[in-house]
Amino acid sequence: MQVKFLKSIVENLVNKQASPIIDLLTGKKNVNEFLIAKKLKLTINQTRNILYKLSDYGLVSFIRKKDKRKGWYIYFWTLNIYQSLNLLEQNLRKELEQLESQLKSRKEKRYYVCKTCSIELTEEGALLNDFICPECEKVYELSENQGVVSDLEKHLNKIKKDIGLVSSERKIEESKLEKKKEVKIKKEEKKKKEERMKKREIKRKIKEKEKKKSKHSSKKKKKPEKKKKRK
Ligand SMILES: [Zn+2]
Repeated sequence: MQVKFLKSIVENLVNKQASPIIDLLTGKKNVNEFLIAKKLKLTINQTRNILYKLSDYGLVSFIRKKDKRKGWYIYFWTLNIYQSLNLLEQNLRKELEQLESQLKSRKEKRYYVCKTCSIELTEEGALLNDFICPECEKVYELSENQGVVSDLEKHLNKIKKDIGLVSSERKIEESKLEKKKEVKIKKEEKKKKEERMKKREIKRKIKEKEKKKSKHSSKKKKKPEKKKKRK
């Protein structure tokens, strides 16, 4: 389900040919761009253009490494699933809003149609032409809204269902990210604690050495003086 949604985002932002990029990036990290280009049967520049476009929307991120032999940078790409689903959800909500306003207008307003030219317009538009089509000079007929309304309603219900699905997927990804964050914070805290312990241990050792030194100091200090005298 997630893959289907992610592909539809790429289709919207780039084009249909680019959507298999999702198959290559899903469930992986840092995918070599040359591999992506090869699999998509595109040039490296075409591939990069797609990826840059997606990264403008935060859908993918990259790390780059210098190829030691060739001297240029190679980019490794990772899909940001949470951002992708988030963007898709936003787009679907916008679409829903538009459909709702269309539906409202279809239910409340009258539309007119010239069946010969297949042109439909609002009552205000028809009035401007005195209800006569300027193309074929036939009188407009009142448009049957019922079919349009039921089509809009079907579309609207589908979008609502999709929003529900995308939203639940997004929440799952959100909690995954939060868990990762928590793990990272805990790791950092552990690291800091270990560093503090190490520092304490080092200080303790230094103090011990100093104690030993002060015990043997009388013997040790005399030796170098003797050496100097020999020279
Ligand atoms: Zn006409």
